[in-house]
Amino acid sequence: MASSADHRDIGRELDLFSFHDVAPGAPFWHPNGMIVFRELERYARKINDANGFDEISTPIMVKDTVFKQSGHWDHYRENMFWFVNPRDENETLVIKPMNCPESTYVYNSTIRSYRDLPLRLAEIGRLHRNELSGTLGGLFRVRQITMDDAHIYVRPDQVEGEVISVLKTIEEFYALFGFKPSYVLATMPEFALGTADEWKRAERALENALSAAGAKFEVAKGEGAFYGPKIEVHMRDSQGRDWQLGTAQLDLVMLPRQFELSYADEDGSKKMPWVIHRAIFGSFERFLGILLEETGGNLPVWLSPVQAAVLSVSDKSVDYAAKVVKNLRGAGIRTILNADSDTLNKKIRDAEVMKIPYILVVGPKEAETGTANVRERDTDAQKSLSPEDFIELVHHQIP
Ligand code: ZN
Repeated sequence: MASSADHRDIGRELDLFSFHDVAPGAPFWHPNGMIVFRELERYARKINDANGFDEISTPIMVKDTVFKQSGHWDHYRENMFWFVNPRDENETLVIKPMNCPESTYVYNSTIRSYRDLPLRLAEIGRLHRNELSGTLGGLFRVRQITMDDAHIYVRPDQVEGEVISVLKTIEEFYALFGFKPSYVLATMPEFALGTADEWKRAERALENALSAAGAKFEVAKGEGAFYGPKIEVHMRDSQGRDWQLGTAQLDLVMLPRQFELSYADEDGSKKMPWVIHRAIFGSFERFLGILLEETGGNLPVWLSPVQAAVLSVSDKSVDYAAKVVKNLRGAGIRTILNADSDTLNKKIRDAEVMKIPYILVVGPKEAETGTANVRERDTDAQKSLSPEDFIELVHHQIP
């Protein structure tokens, strides 16, 4: 069956996930899909570790007071899931739609000094938003969202350096998939909190960071949030659709003021930090949906649920095939063995349908020379490699 461009069909073909009426807008991840999800998570954490981010995890369910204080209760309530505790009518609980307000509780858990900044708190948070059921669509619009979120608490003079680093990470991440991000700088809207001076300083910092990173950008005049200017990271897919994925959103007043954030400056005076809301690819769900459609399910090796299929030519080579599989699995390569008595052509076709990046055919000749006949997905190229060389070939492609 030919692959459809719709990620829901690809998800079914590759057995990645399914949707069920009982959970509108929330996928059930199957074992194959969970591998893809975990790999993306692993890489997100690797980027965070490499760039000095500390990971936190804040509660999924908190009292309404948190979101009243942040202003979401007044302006965003219809997008939130909340309920009165059936055991205590005086307690209203909110299922968090975003991580930002709660991250301030970690910031405020101790007295901060200028030496603590920048403080980079990352959270791969699970969020819930009450999207209208009619607008839900596969992984593109879900009610349960996993975000590669982070909040960077900074002194105003640190914004530029931090944003340059975020932009570099974004370029590296998108390049892994051959995607070209584009940037929009959204500036001060008509209604804005904070002084004109602060805004000028904040916009200049973002602009300088974009220029220093060599990123071309458009300016969306007056389209910043009321609490600060932002950089939007966009990607145009092969169908011409524009996606806003990552962001570096500067927050001059919302979190800092509402949650009374402060730090002691070098001269001992009490100052208010700024906050950068950062996401590299935004929602895991939506990014995976786009990736599936862009690749037609031919995921890069590091994200492929099965990376190699070892096929025995005949019964005589089954023992050797099993040995190769053991070897590869020992090196962390996700490998399956097909030692069925089907014809080799049928086994190859089966592996191709599952879009497995590498097919290793082994027969008596390979057993004798300690090699495998390696075929790469979507190419006619075949080469004879030892398991060790093949392992190196795959390891080279894992970011
Ligand atoms: Zn945020």
